[in-house]
Amino acid sequence: MACIPTGSEKRERKMVSKNKKPHFGHESMHTHSQSIESAVVDQSKATAEDILHKTDMGHDVIAVRPADSIHKVTEVMKANGIGSVLVKDQNGHMVGILTERDIVRGFADEPDDTFDETAADLMTTNVVTATPQTSLMELLHLMTEGRFRHVPVLDGEHIAGLISIGDVVKFRLRELEYEALKLKQMIVG
Ligand code: AMP
Repeated sequence: MACIPTGSEKRERKMVSKNKKPHFGHESMHTHSQSIESAVVDQSKATAEDILHKTDMGHDVIAVRPADSIHKVTEVMKANGIGSVLVKDQNGHMVGILTERDIVRGFADEPDDTFDETAADLMTTNVVTATPQTSLMELLHLMTEGRFRHVPVLDGEHIAGLISIGDVVKFRLRELEYEALKLKQMIVG
């Protein structure tokens, strides 16, 4: 089910050499500037697991049943303040994902009948998933390439969580703030 593009390591390596800064001649300066340089060009090493832990999204992914009406799905979304739900069968297996976007599309197509349609009618069945080891950069790639904002994280058969693009951005911003602080401390000494 997982659809993780390969080659990101190569991409990351390319970005590192492209962004490489000239170093200074003096040996101590050289060492100092090198550590600053590696901090600047360092890509995030974070994984889906880190994001789930930091954003506390790793528990109780909200799900509905395929036969649930869209009306019920909107109530579930409203009650939980979320924009997407997983669709699981009676055995707890994920059979699809349904987001606000599917519901909006449903209303545009069938304004009068959409509330009475079922989750199975509007869900996406070909769900792209990640594993706890999927990197933050891979998650962003999956979302950008697939044009969706949610990725379920599967640990084997177990659904470990659901990561939204908002979670990824929030996590990365925190990392960048921390990196900026480290750089400031390096420069100040
Ligand atoms: P979103 O941007 O997440 O609201 O989703 C946009 C469209 O992509 C909707 O049709 C969703 O059902 C679908 N979608 C959302 N997440 C995924 C995913 N992880 N894999 C495949 N399709 C998805």
